[in-house]
Amino acid sequence: QAKNYAKYMGTNQFQLYNKEIHEKLMTMNELQADILTGLEKNEFFLVYQPLFYIQDERIAEIEALIRWKHPEKGLLYPDRFIELAEQAGTIINIDYWVLETACKQLKSWRDRNQKPVLLSINISAKSFETKSFVPDITSIINQYEVNPEYLQLEITERMVIKNVEESIQKLCQLRDMGIRVAIDDFGIGYSSLSYIVRLPIDSIKIDKSFVQNITSSKESKAIVTTIINLCKILRLNVIAEGIESKFELDYLKSNQCEIGQGYYFSKPVHIEEIERLLME
Ligand code: C2E
Ligand code: MG
Ligand code: MG
Ligand code: MG
Repeated sequence: QAKNYAKYMGTNQFQLYNKEIHEKLMTMNELQADILTGLEKNEFFLVYQPLFYIQDERIAEIEALIRWKHPEKGLLYPDRFIELAEQAGTIINIDYWVLETACKQLKSWRDRNQKPVLLSINISAKSFETKSFVPDITSIINQYEVNPEYLQLEITERMVIKNVEESIQKLCQLRDMGIRVAIDDFGIGYSSLSYIVRLPIDSIKIDKSFVQNITSSKESKAIVTTIINLCKILRLNVIAEGIESKFELDYLKSNQCEIGQGYYFSKPVHIEEIERLLME
């Protein structure tokens, strides 16, 4: 009887398992195809979040964030497709679309004599690991005659740690061209400080989970202060993500954090709105 039971369960579980995998594969394939058509049909767009100098609340830089106007599913935020696109590999197509769109934007601002501003984009691990990453970026920058000093790439600790020497080499090449590099979501990765201090980077963005716990947790306060101090010693720009309240802002200000990003200042906005803000 036990044997029968096992067999019964086995078959059943197998079917269940099979169905799950099938559904997952379906969504993956569908998503992959959806993303490629979506890119062709211009369903993706960028929104722009201004970052501010905490001392005087002037705009310091702008982060471009992707959105997807899906024909059936409506407006999709990155949490609905970035991770899956990473698994499916189409993230590379997305990243290049973002890079190209950002470069077009920088070119358009320059053509219209808009006051220059640093534009930051998020790069995922898959793209960064590509052999042709640096030459590809170089050719897009050249194509749109972008001044590389106004382009910033946001990468994460985890991406760099996978292959430290190769990453350092790529980062050096990018920075030699004048491109700026920021470490995004800093503090939640697993990297050791001995690696971080060796990285050729410009800025560190303190992950919003620490900033949002400043109010309630002594530990988060300590982590934020420590990262700020580390950045001062390493001569890196320090940016606090996810500032939502005056309390958080005041804490960061009194601890000499330079730049802030968050709903307290501004949500990500459409291009027209960011251009209006830049002209103020
Ligand atoms: P991220 O790079 O850390 O970007 C910051 C995220 O925090 C954005 O979410 C932004 O809208 C949100 N945010 C800003 N201020 C606040 C605040 O005060 N409170 C809270 N709760 N959130 C705030 P978003 O746009 O949904 O993007 C989520 C993540 O998706 C990004 O995190 C980034 O890792 C990824 N992502 C976004 N756009 C792109 C892209 O173009 N390419 C790639 N590869 N990844 C992207
Ligand atoms: Mg980012
Ligand atoms: Mg990011
Ligand atoms: Mg972040």
